[in-house]
Amino acid sequence: MNILLLGSGGREHALAWKIAQSERLDRLFVAPGNPGMAEIATCVALDPMKFLEVGRFVVENKIDMVVVGPEAPLVEGIVDYFRSRPELQHVALIGPSAAGARLEGSKDFAKAFMRRHHIPTADYQTFGADRFEEACRFLKTLKPPYVLKADGLAAGKGVLILDDLETAESELKAMLSGRFGAASAQVVIEEFLSGIECSVFALTDGKHYQILPEAKDYKRIGEGDTGLNTGGMGSVSPVPFATKEWMQRVEDEIVRPTVEGLAADGLDYRGFIFFGLINCDGRPKVIEYNCRMGDPETETVMLRLKSDLVELFEGVAQGDLDRREVVFDERPAVCVMCVSGGYPEAYRKNIPMTIGEQADGVVFHAGTALKDGQLVTAGGRVAAVSNYGATATEALAKSMRGAEAIDFEGKYFRRDIGKDIIDA
Ligand code: ATP
Repeated sequence: MNILLLGSGGREHALAWKIAQSERLDRLFVAPGNPGMAEIATCVALDPMKFLEVGRFVVENKIDMVVVGPEAPLVEGIVDYFRSRPELQHVALIGPSAAGARLEGSKDFAKAFMRRHHIPTADYQTFGADRFEEACRFLKTLKPPYVLKADGLAAGKGVLILDDLETAESELKAMLSGRFGAASAQVVIEEFLSGIECSVFALTDGKHYQILPEAKDYKRIGEGDTGLNTGGMGSVSPVPFATKEWMQRVEDEIVRPTVEGLAADGLDYRGFIFFGLINCDGRPKVIEYNCRMGDPETETVMLRLKSDLVELFEGVAQGDLDRREVVFDERPAVCVMCVSGGYPEAYRKNIPMTIGEQADGVVFHAGTALKDGQLVTAGGRVAAVSNYGATATEALAKSMRGAEAIDFEGKYFRRDIGKDIIDA
């Protein structure tokens, strides 16, 4: 079959890498892709947000399946667009409808969904600007630190965790006055949960589900989880505290009720579900849902997925995902992200770069471009190196050697990915 994958980052390169290994694949196109993906797929200059153009390309190139990498086209309704067009009815889509994508697009929607379906999560209330006084009263009932979340998508910056009540009140006021535009017209105030986070991924056909390898990502720029938040500096899979028993709880208390809840609410959801979990004294609770895979978790999860991803996608499209097999590679995998100096604040782009020989492992391009035939950086996160190891410590050492072999001015990467949990 012919597949079109939408997106251009490390997550999409990892998905493309896995899709390209499938025996079910004839041709793989990526839009817009990146120079790394160009080695295994045909990159096409299409904007995933321009649904009409994507649809035309799909018809002209006899595409059978569209896999949507990032959340924006899903939240904007690319799936609904395809389902509304007679000429696109035959196309299998991996990703939820706009209604299903609200699990990620609206935190208030996600919280109400969890409350309705008894899925463990932090206690919360949602407020608009007209209820500022009431919101302040609710804040006072909580213990610090205070968690404020813009309801809508805010490029990963819409969550504030504040130590004192006064700052929380003034930040709440700023959010409700439009600090994140329409995204913070409503603010979710929730109870602070303390514990270690873990990302769990499932694929669903709307009725059945399959759980993929779990991973932990590292969001802060500095070693020891210090400094500013980033898009993700690396990931490790498996996560030692995600034992068989813990994952069984995740399945029984979170994954199954979510898939059943989506069906009960009549939400068309066929694709990946990302469960951002926190381990609260052995009890998994949901911090957030995303309607797509995580980045940089995909860069380790795809390494550890032995099954044919396209066959799983076919299960999603045909509604028989329960009959497909998901096999994990037992070996741990670690991903180390190379970023540009200054990131996540101001950083340079267009820096010439080279990717030296990798003893083993894979380099997933996150933000690269070709300029006059020269590979250059094109983003803050530039390239992710992923390796297996006999142990996670060995996988980390290999990925760091791989990251050292990538050269560009100002390159930085964390050397402690996974160390907090693998040495425990
Ligand atoms: P992302 O960039 O991962 O998509 P987001 O902006 O959608 O994030 P959340 O994932 O909901 O927002 O929150 C960001 C981070 O804030 C979480 O990964 C977690 O570390 C922290 N966090 C969120 N909610 C809570 C909570 N209730 N208690 C403790 N920490 C929290």
